[in-house]
Amino acid sequence: MGRFELERRELVGMLKEKGITDETVLAAIGTVERHLFVDPMFVNRAYEDSALPIGSEQTISQPFTVAFMSQALRPRKGMKVLEIGTGSGYQAAVLAAIGCRVFTIERHLSLLMSARKLFDVQHLRIVAKGGDGSIGWSEHAPYDGIIVTAGAPSIPGPLAAQLAEGGRIVIPVGGMEAQRLHVATKVNGLLQVEVHDGFKFVPLIGKNAWN
Ligand code: SAM
Repeated sequence: MGRFELERRELVGMLKEKGITDETVLAAIGTVERHLFVDPMFVNRAYEDSALPIGSEQTISQPFTVAFMSQALRPRKGMKVLEIGTGSGYQAAVLAAIGCRVFTIERHLSLLMSARKLFDVQHLRIVAKGGDGSIGWSEHAPYDGIIVTAGAPSIPGPLAAQLAEGGRIVIPVGGMEAQRLHVATKVNGLLQVEVHDGFKFVPLIGKNAWN
């Protein structure tokens, strides 16, 4: 049995109990080695359902949040996804394990560098760059899905514009302290939004977000 395989299986069981049903998401979480994405100091807590510090005052999101946001995106093989907020790289790795073509942006270069190393070593199909993700990444648009892993005051206009017709954007929107997770689908050029409560994120800092 591989390292932490039992812990990963238990985590998947816990996510099912908490209402995650998408088998592709559960299989990816059962495969991706979260302990490689956390600070070595927290390696024994890697499969707890909690957020953990990753440096630069940022966190790797709680597994339930990663699972919920991934499921909300309705991921499928070959789908082109833009992630804003690479952080540790774990969320991007989960989407890549599902077979998505992932583009991801991180504003902290030290986090970007560590995530890139992990992507290279694990031969993951992820293209990562440094910068302000609130302006999107127009070169590769349109995207079938956009996932924002930090909280914004509203849905940044460039992200809505870079979403393909029928595509979905998953983004926490609200104040600095509390947000509601918005899941929006682009229909006839307009976003149809549903909201979910019970999540908390670090702020999205950028031109079309918090200053
Ligand atoms: N997806 C990450 C993971 O799996 O570890 C979780 C990331 S953490 C909750 C949110 C990240 O968003 C932080 O690393 C933060 O630096 C980044 N961030 C905040 N504002 C950003 C922006 N405008 N552009 C790109 N990244 C941003």
